[in-house]
Amino acid sequence: MQDWYKTQNFCLVPFLLMNSRGFGRVKICSQISGFMGVPKDEHFTSLQEFSQRSYSVDECYNLNDHSIEEIWNSKFMRAFRMAKINNVEMGCCRVCRKDETVGGGRDSKRQSVLAKLGEQHRWRVEQAIKNNGALQARPAWWDLRLSNRCNMACRMCLPQSSSKLLVEFRQNREKLTPLDHHNLQITEQEMAKNGWLADSDRFLEDFLDQARDIEVIELHGGEPTIEPGFWKLLSGLIESGHAENIKIVIHTNILKLTSDQIDILDCFQGGKFIASIDSIGRENDFLRYPSKWDDVKKNIPLFAKLGKGWIKNIHQTISAYQCCTVHKFLEFFEQLIVKHNLSLGWSFAFVTNPDWLCISNIPLHLRQAEAHRLQMFYERTPLVEESYFDHQRFRRELQRLINALNTDMPRKERAYQDFLKESAYFDEARSESATDVFPHYRELFLGES
Ligand code: SF4
Ligand code: SF4
Repeated sequence: MQDWYKTQNFCLVPFLLMNSRGFGRVKICSQISGFMGVPKDEHFTSLQEFSQRSYSVDECYNLNDHSIEEIWNSKFMRAFRMAKINNVEMGCCRVCRKDETVGGGRDSKRQSVLAKLGEQHRWRVEQAIKNNGALQARPAWWDLRLSNRCNMACRMCLPQSSSKLLVEFRQNREKLTPLDHHNLQITEQEMAKNGWLADSDRFLEDFLDQARDIEVIELHGGEPTIEPGFWKLLSGLIESGHAENIKIVIHTNILKLTSDQIDILDCFQGGKFIASIDSIGRENDFLRYPSKWDDVKKNIPLFAKLGKGWIKNIHQTISAYQCCTVHKFLEFFEQLIVKHNLSLGWSFAFVTNPDWLCISNIPLHLRQAEAHRLQMFYERTPLVEESYFDHQRFRRELQRLINALNTDMPRKERAYQDFLKESAYFDEARSESATDVFPHYRELFLGES
């Protein structure tokens, strides 16, 4: 028999994971592209037909109305799993293919999940083979979004992910760029149709009933700390006795984090606490509007207290805006570790969507200057030495950042024009000035050399 694990298209994710969107639609994973949601049985005939036409929101399952079991073992999910077993290449998995072929040595999600969990969950694939793609086992990993409730309106965000941005876009409807106008429209349409999953008692009950196989729950926003649905769900898992077998991964902006929430998280087996902090000082206030840097800083020691079994990480999302000033953030991070003795890791990701925020919009000479500053930092920081518990990853990540900044990438003219237009829109709506916060970009914003 063919060892499906070794084929280039096999992926374990559809055997393990369910990914809910705030409106209740279900995706297979966060990487999947051009995928609106799992189509209902009555609208699905074959994967081939599926890949050739677009599905509307109405043709997709929704956790507000359909059970987890109905979706998990739907015709589509069974066909998708069998396609993975049979090494069929799927267009919607192109992000993983791209990472594997031109990703510069970075593992794709497909590869990293397989490497970490492949052997442990082989039985799920064997079970699916015997049942033509169906699984008696329930999802082991939930990638949960329940709503767009958020206390921030970051420049990189979308109204479907931030209630604050939604309010701002509604107030400025007439001034929005076409891109923002489109995002506002689709958010309003789906809100009117489906509402938020956080408000569905039916889903909460179903989730707790189906919790027996859960190993990991990822909490995404909006902002999880202000979404009461998450805390209801976590408390339900503590009461039912499941919590001690479950790891939590939480992505949060930490501004509204409380010590009661830390106590709830500590009832679980452990997990990963990911504080999303993109920059310091004025750059923070600009990018993660309307937060204030002093408030963000004040809350860092709170999550550093999480107990045994927790990995604590600060994650930077690097966009065109702050890609030339990352060294300022890393100097701050070094102080946290060295002076304040906090055990925190650091990671980063580049914004790849929307493309107006991609670092390719920034001229190479500006990025190279930052790469040089970061190289100097690398050569002197104690964070690359063994005394820092996460030094190996830190070295790897920093080197990856330096290499990317030094890479000549073709600028897409439309994305660059959008960068200027979006910056102008936000500056006007918020009475801010990108040029004041990032003076080294004067030549970009004002056309000066
Ligand atoms: S191959 Fe990649 S995109 Fe496709 S299901 Fe797996 S993780 Fe998701
Ligand atoms: S904190 Fe996260 S969800 Fe909220 S606006 Fe910022 S990016 Fe969006």
